[in-house]
Amino acid sequence: LASQSHSNHQTVVRLSEKVSFGGEDVVIIGGPCTVESLDQMETVASHLAAAPVQALRGGVYKPRTSPYAFQGMGVEGLQILASVRSRYSIPVVTEVMSIGQIEAVAADADMLQIGSRNMQNFDLLKALGEAGKPILLKRGLASTIEEFVMAAEYILSHGNPDVVLCERGIRSFDNYTRNVLDLGAVVALKQITHLPVIVDPSHAVGKRELVAPLAKAAIACGADGLIIECHPEPEKSVSDARQALSLEDMVSLVHSLRPVAAAV
Ligand code: PEP
Ligand code: MN
Repeated sequence: LASQSHSNHQTVVRLSEKVSFGGEDVVIIGGPCTVESLDQMETVASHLAAAPVQALRGGVYKPRTSPYAFQGMGVEGLQILASVRSRYSIPVVTEVMSIGQIEAVAADADMLQIGSRNMQNFDLLKALGEAGKPILLKRGLASTIEEFVMAAEYILSHGNPDVVLCERGIRSFDNYTRNVLDLGAVVALKQITHLPVIVDPSHAVGKRELVAPLAKAAIACGADGLIIECHPEPEKSVSDARQALSLEDMVSLVHSLRPVAAAV
């Protein structure tokens, strides 16, 4: 179902009346790694809505390496997302980690993110087939392109056609950057599937000073959008502080992407 040969068209995944992936516009999703407070999300939303950034991100269920690290605000965080979503008329994207979270997250979010660590959680993927919301499927941190496409296939074959693929870097031998951004995979996925493909340069490189050039490179090689982490006080982020852009840098990055997108 995911393959270009099965369906020789570009799938357009609609987030809201104005925002769709795979159409004319490059879609930028911005926001913090973790939802920390209403105040934080209001500040982010007001800056980004003006930028304009088309969708807001923020995790409320966080897949942390350590069980002692902050695990996310949960339902309270969903309420914060719902509040900024309606106040700023901006779609929101947030992660679901388990089948049990799908219903509550689908009630408040416009798109459900499946994190890298859950890309091959097959029961979760099957359940997303019936979630009734678009899915942002992130590539597993050590997954091949074939495994990535097959993970999408689980969701498609269980009844949900609205899948957006996200390249977010893969593990390699060099840890100077957090992961290695595989732009070749972006080009390949655009050729072999009809699904929209976006790029997460933040988790790919893990260092804020490397985010903007790779964001531009992603658009230049045909990505349909970007998901980028930013925070009102980047160094105070409760998670992924090292890669968070300031809101000012995020806004200027969005502006600098325009000529790149126009040239593709
Ligand atoms: C995230 O987007 O905050 C995240 C945890 O990403 P990934 O699953 O790609 O590591
Ligand atoms: Mn993060």
